[in-house]
Amino acid sequence: MKEELQLFMELCDVLLQSEEEHPIVAPVKIPDLFKKLDLSLKATAELEENFISGLKELIKATPKTATNRFFNQLYGGRVPKAVLGDLLAVMLNTSMYTYKVAGPQIGVEKVILQASKELIGYPDSYGGTIASGGSMSNFISLILARDAKLPETSMVGVNRTFTLYTSEACHYSIGKNAALSGIGRNNVRYVKTDARGCMLVSDLETQIEKDIELGNLPFFINATAGTTVLGAFDPIKEIAKISSKYGLWFHVDGAYCGSVIFSNSYNHLVEGIELSDSFNYNAHKMLGTPMTCSIFLCKEKKFLYNSLAADADYLFQTAVDDFNPGKTSLQCGRRNDALKLWTLWKSIGTEGLGKMVDHQFKMADFARKYIQANPNYTLYSYEKSISVCFNYKDYNAKKLCHAMYEKAKFLVSFGENNGTQFVRLVTINSILQQSDILNFFSLLEQFADTEYHSSN
Ligand SMILES: *Cc1c(COP(=O)(O)O)cnc(C)c1O
Repeated sequence: MKEELQLFMELCDVLLQSEEEHPIVAPVKIPDLFKKLDLSLKATAELEENFISGLKELIKATPKTATNRFFNQLYGGRVPKAVLGDLLAVMLNTSMYTYKVAGPQIGVEKVILQASKELIGYPDSYGGTIASGGSMSNFISLILARDAKLPETSMVGVNRTFTLYTSEACHYSIGKNAALSGIGRNNVRYVKTDARGCMLVSDLETQIEKDIELGNLPFFINATAGTTVLGAFDPIKEIAKISSKYGLWFHVDGAYCGSVIFSNSYNHLVEGIELSDSFNYNAHKMLGTPMTCSIFLCKEKKFLYNSLAADADYLFQTAVDDFNPGKTSLQCGRRNDALKLWTLWKSIGTEGLGKMVDHQFKMADFARKYIQANPNYTLYSYEKSISVCFNYKDYNAKKLCHAMYEKAKFLVSFGENNGTQFVRLVTINSILQQSDILNFFSLLEQFADTEYHSSN
């Protein structure tokens, strides 16, 4: 193993140097992929030197997500203390179903859940797990809500028309999860949003009333803390009133920006979060841990057990349920996604995590101010969002983003709201400084007005 670790260090050096020299790589065209890189698997062993040189080529050709040229998705950057934890998790290779196998790593996960619970103010009867992503956290919430509404469903299947409510700006996993859970995509009610992309509570109530009249079974409301395109926050307190009035499960999908719970300056964006029945945040988004780390919490632990626990004598042989988190997970074998968040949290404290969040909002403010001060830009997003959506002159956002990708300028994506397409700059990468933001705009302007302009 020591040899591989040495090789690993060597390969990391290759990566870090390549990031420095080429913070963005020219994309390999799909038709050229298997010609350019030898990815083939053969019957015979590869010569060690070819194996190593092949790995180096692969590393160099892979899109760089940790540099200051990556603005494409809702994650980016590299937080060293979190990477350290994740590398250790690979070496330890525990599986997070039982205390017998994972030992103190279960404690690592438990303190993360406990400390997160304290930030949002759930009672001591809370439960939680770490899921393989926000989509899966949302799926868990839907299953728990379904079974809480009609407990026999887990035995007899879905035999009523369950209806659920989420805003039209929600993440696509809500609709997909409705399909997976047997509830059906047709029974998702997409609630209207206001100009800022926040759920319109009046429309929410209208739609619930309509379903009750039709004899349907409303059971679940999803609010989003940081919508995927505009980064908007649904009004949690108002939605909580509706959920309690009609007896519906209230989930808050904080995959993108739920980490505002760490910031004293921005946690008001999820004011009332303690009124929800379940909540999730992705540490691999705002907190910058490696992929993936999604924290799921629910107010009452019993719902997690009701829906997800299964008895298996061959697996759960020792310890109390509380220390066998396999009983509250969708998975059996489960990667230790807790350790990377724990090493980060331990090293910089809750305050340090809050500062990361604050910094992202500061960079977004900076970018928005730049846009507002420049008449060549149109802004489509609002304050208190780390998604900065804009168009430059009258350039087509989709084409411009694609051209910048092809010409290896930036990885940035486009979004759409109310039929308008725009560039979406996300300031989630916590290494970004004002100079990187200025550099982004100046490169974009330069590219759009010259290379792109002359070819379109
Ligand atoms: C990213 C995101 C998700 C999905 O999270 P994954 O970890 O990618 O599965 C869900 N909801 C929102 C609002 C998101 O931004």
